[in-house]
Amino acid sequence: MNVLVAGGGLVGLSTAVFLGQHGVRTTVVERHATTSIHPKARGFTPRTMELFRGAGFADEVREAGAALKDNHDLVVYETLDKPPLRRIMETTDNEPILRVSPDSHCACPQDALEPILLAAARELGADIRFGTEFQSFTQDHDGVTAIVDGATIRADYLVACDGSRSSIRERLGIDMVGDAPTMSSVGISFEAELDLDHFILAWTTHPDGAGILLPIDNRRRWVFHVELTGSRTPADFTDEYCTRLIRVATGQPDLDVKLVSVAPWETTSAVAAKYRAGRVFLAGDAAHLIPPAGAFGANTGIQDAHNLAWKLAYVLNGMAGPALLDTYEAERRPVAEMTTDQAMRRWQTWMNHNPMPFAEDLAVMYGTQYVSSAVDHPGPARPLELNLDGTPGTRVPHAWLPDGRSTLDLVGPDFALLHDGTWPAGPVRSHQVDLGPGAMLVRPDGYVAWRSTEPTDVDPIMAKLLTR
Ligand SMILES: Cc1cc2nc3c(=O)[nH]c(=O)nc-3n(C[C@H](O)[C@H](O)[C@H](O)COP(=O)(O)OP(=O)(O)OC[C@H]3O[C@@H](n4cnc5c(N)ncnc54)[C@H](O)[C@@H]3O)c2cc1C
Repeated sequence: MNVLVAGGGLVGLSTAVFLGQHGVRTTVVERHATTSIHPKARGFTPRTMELFRGAGFADEVREAGAALKDNHDLVVYETLDKPPLRRIMETTDNEPILRVSPDSHCACPQDALEPILLAAARELGADIRFGTEFQSFTQDHDGVTAIVDGATIRADYLVACDGSRSSIRERLGIDMVGDAPTMSSVGISFEAELDLDHFILAWTTHPDGAGILLPIDNRRRWVFHVELTGSRTPADFTDEYCTRLIRVATGQPDLDVKLVSVAPWETTSAVAAKYRAGRVFLAGDAAHLIPPAGAFGANTGIQDAHNLAWKLAYVLNGMAGPALLDTYEAERRPVAEMTTDQAMRRWQTWMNHNPMPFAEDLAVMYGTQYVSSAVDHPGPARPLELNLDGTPGTRVPHAWLPDGRSTLDLVGPDFALLHDGTWPAGPVRSHQVDLGPGAMLVRPDGYVAWRSTEPTDVDPIMAKLLTR
């Protein structure tokens, strides 16, 4: 076996997909019997959609979330039968996104997305085991030995995608650096026939029905999030109490409500002190706890998985030295710190009536500049700047090609050289494109590793980047 993934949520399944794209044998163990039944995460960024596009199932994800495709705005109501009190954020303009990406935002409920990831991972050869508990592990110079449902599994590497309470992180003694939980809530998933405006989410302010309503299909499936104020605990959320809250919030005292589940959750902003301990890597909520404001949590985790997958594949295939794996933390941890801070600023502004300045979503999604040994001459990082101009360490610029593809469609699963036509053939797959003078060497994850205007032998550059 090559890679063992503990946890088969959004990030564990994504890890299996991205490793599968590189032909890495992967086993995922997930304690639940099935993919998530909770439609928790719903908002997926254009960057995440680019990764799904690369894996060939972005259209399927859009189709699965089609019911929500025209929803917009965050709206405040006293109760949902009354006119809105105000719109906190209006979101209709995709134009700035489509200038930098071939993809746009997508709303797709987590319980619809996970089966798509599962099918893709299995198609690529991953062994996904549900109803299987990851119990413990040891590691040595050559690999990891894990105990899974009482049986021993040996792997070259272990990726901990076991969520916010990661037992693997705990076992490694890795601390979370950041704030203690600032808010506790419960998410009440329910079914009821409701004919409401197509908002992204709605706040209800009535004291007996205060919460946030999220549509899942705009018709029958909804989640109502309620803060645990005062002495309320999750145990207080009996069926009767949940139904009463929903009826008050909707302004429909006789609404026929079918409760599906009640799940507590906490708002925390913290990042793991380390992302790697030997042959074990943390990804997703195991590595960072990002407040849900802005919908960045799962997106950041899925992008962690994409960053890590090609590096593991290159090291396992002997195409890179093991030091390449150190660049995972060097690149992804600063992204988590920046994103956590941005999400917390939104949270304070929207939830705590404590306005704080925050960067526009586009800058959070694409204002990432990796600085590591897997990028040549990155220069000082300029976080939150939208410098998608081919600067090393940033995502390759998007431009449409004459055949209708994007420049992004030319990259992965290996390195690619995008050049202006003046470059001789070399060891790397190359494409002539119209992205300005010279050439840029693009990594398998779509980030620019190096660029030059002078024709250059890229072999020594690759050797350096890959610590061969
Ligand atoms: C209300 C709310 C709304 C959100 N909305 C969004 C959104 O719109 N967009 C977004 O990007 N993010 C959103 N998030 C954040 C997002 O839900 C999380 O970041 C994401 O689900 C984390 O995925 P994960 O796979 O890392 O962890 P998890 O989803 O927690 O998955 C971990 C998995 O590991 C399994 N596991 C744990 N321990 C073991 C073990 N010992 N053995 C076997 N299996 C184990 C668990 O059963 C679980 O399935 C939201 C969060 C909340 C609370």
